[in-house]
Amino acid sequence: MKGNGTISTLYEHGTLASLMAGNMAGTITLEDLLKHGSTGIGTFDGLDGEVIILDGEVYQAVSDGTVNHVTDRQAKMPFASVHTPADLEELELTDVDFNALNGKFVRQHELKNVFAALRLTGKFSHVKVRIAPKQEEPYPSLLEVAQGQPTFTRDDVDGTIIGYYAPEIFGSVTAAGWHLHFISDDRQYAGHLLGFTAPALTGDLQIFDTLEQHLPIADQAFRQGEVDMATLRDSIAQSEGNQD
Ligand SMILES: [Zn+2]
Repeated sequence: MKGNGTISTLYEHGTLASLMAGNMAGTITLEDLLKHGSTGIGTFDGLDGEVIILDGEVYQAVSDGTVNHVTDRQAKMPFASVHTPADLEELELTDVDFNALNGKFVRQHELKNVFAALRLTGKFSHVKVRIAPKQEEPYPSLLEVAQGQPTFTRDDVDGTIIGYYAPEIFGSVTAAGWHLHFISDDRQYAGHLLGFTAPALTGDLQIFDTLEQHLPIADQAFRQGEVDMATLRDSIAQSEGNQD
């Protein structure tokens, strides 16, 4: 657990609520996003795929199941989170899946009221991801998109999980609980993690004391957007749930 007095910041651009409402146009360039961290997750303009950022390298899983190594720093994203790895708590986990992460792991590391980054690497016996298909304007709601998203599974794959834990009370700003993406070591298979099992993984955990929430104030759709608070939580649960 961190305790050396340095500030550690999770930087988030855009909000999940705004994305849910259909504001899917890209509003921050990769160049600007990467000023705030080298590691993270997100999606591209038009909800075009699932993004994995590892040590400054950017990968995009697209909805046909392929993975692009993205080098265009002017590519824009409507929603993304990044951080700079620091103050890492090293992890060695056995029999890992979402049940273990949601239960024992959250309790042992006292995560329920904090933001944290998780990175886990190793051999996975099973992985299931989904990949958001690119949308065209006028954009539908995220809930409508979520109902038709392709999923892809792999057995016996070496790879890395990267993503975040967020407290329940922030569950409309971002995804509450775990929001994790996966990418294989050969960079051929990736996506938003729906389920996995792994006998043994190593990695690290970073707990943040600061959330920096950046908003796309120049974006008219964002400025004029309406969020339906009455149905927001249910819609997010249906769109962003991570259980198999
Ligand atoms: Zn995701």
